[in-house]
Amino acid sequence: MSSSKVYFTNMRTRVGESLLGKLDRLIVKAGIKEIDFKQKYAAIKIHFGEPGNLAFLRPNFAKVVADRIKALGGMPFLTDCNTLYVGRRNNALVHMDAAFENGYTPFSTGVQNIIADGLRGTDDVDVPIKGGTYCKVAHIGRAIMDADIVISLNHFKGHEMTGFGGAIKNIGMGSGSRAGKMDMHNDGKPEVDKSACIGCKICTRFCNHGAISFGADKKAVIDHKKCVGCGRCIGACSKNAVSNNAGSSNEALNCKIVEYTKAVVDGRPNFHISVVNNVSPYCDCHGESDAPIVPDIGIFAGFDPVAVDKACIDAVNAAPGIAASILGDREHTHKLPNGEDHLTDIHPTTDWRTQIAHAEKIGLGTGNYELITVK
Ligand code: SF4
Ligand code: SF4
Repeated sequence: MSSSKVYFTNMRTRVGESLLGKLDRLIVKAGIKEIDFKQKYAAIKIHFGEPGNLAFLRPNFAKVVADRIKALGGMPFLTDCNTLYVGRRNNALVHMDAAFENGYTPFSTGVQNIIADGLRGTDDVDVPIKGGTYCKVAHIGRAIMDADIVISLNHFKGHEMTGFGGAIKNIGMGSGSRAGKMDMHNDGKPEVDKSACIGCKICTRFCNHGAISFGADKKAVIDHKKCVGCGRCIGACSKNAVSNNAGSSNEALNCKIVEYTKAVVDGRPNFHISVVNNVSPYCDCHGESDAPIVPDIGIFAGFDPVAVDKACIDAVNAAPGIAASILGDREHTHKLPNGEDHLTDIHPTTDWRTQIAHAEKIGLGTGNYELITVK
């Protein structure tokens, strides 16, 4: 069975070289110079961190990657899409505020931040998914699709619905516009909460299917016979009056994320970096970050997002669990069938293996990897 190369460096440093220097050496060894960056736009897909969360990646890591791309002649920018849920990153204005608050400014990283799906999260491109079985098209933030090259710079952590948050999730879920995120998270069509709707009619401007009308009470109503479930109205409504509660199963969610990732990377140079530090049990979308479940491990890089993710998963599951974390709580309350699989232990209602298996099935990459250590 074929395997992909994954390059790894641990968190140790020598006097005179910081971890940032090691990161640069790692990505060079892993082959980033093989990509022709000259005069090309390079989207560095990152998560700026929900304010209050302290586990997200420091901007210092992003500067190293951006500087390397600039040295290779490219035009990098940092990017993410708006969130579906209510928070501090659900439109471009508050999202940029959150990024600045967390230290992602052109002064610290040397590059601009672009919210890829625009002000309301409605600026997207429908991208066909080759081999997709759950989705036929992916709704991807326009700026990410406008780029020539995609680089994932990811903070690896646990995730309550997908088991882990790795390169695949950073790209797949993270590059989805608000409509794309609804597509991944939900199987149904949205409804309007009449108590929140103020009848402003802004949502109708974003509905290409004439599915929204207004009754005598001047509140929006969605005709599900006309609605195609694109989710644009969810992003359009600044009152958060539109939502979809028909959630995908965690298995379907994992598979849809994989398919969205394939839509983003197919046909374009792509490269993946995952920093395995502050491994919090939950996503950086949380406005808090619980104690790390394992000690900091290192940084992984390579051209195959599936191999990079599998290498990170294996490293986390092989590391000793930290008792002063959620792992310690769980060990006190019940005996684990398999204490080595920390990710399944903390998120037993989902199975991270689904993501890897579906990624292999549709040709995104392989979970077989050769780990090459960079000292
Ligand atoms: S945009 Fe929101 S508040 Fe305005 S009419 Fe539509 S659902 Fe109601
Ligand atoms: S989800 Fe339905 S109602 Fe909302 S914009 Fe799309 S088609 Fe229109």
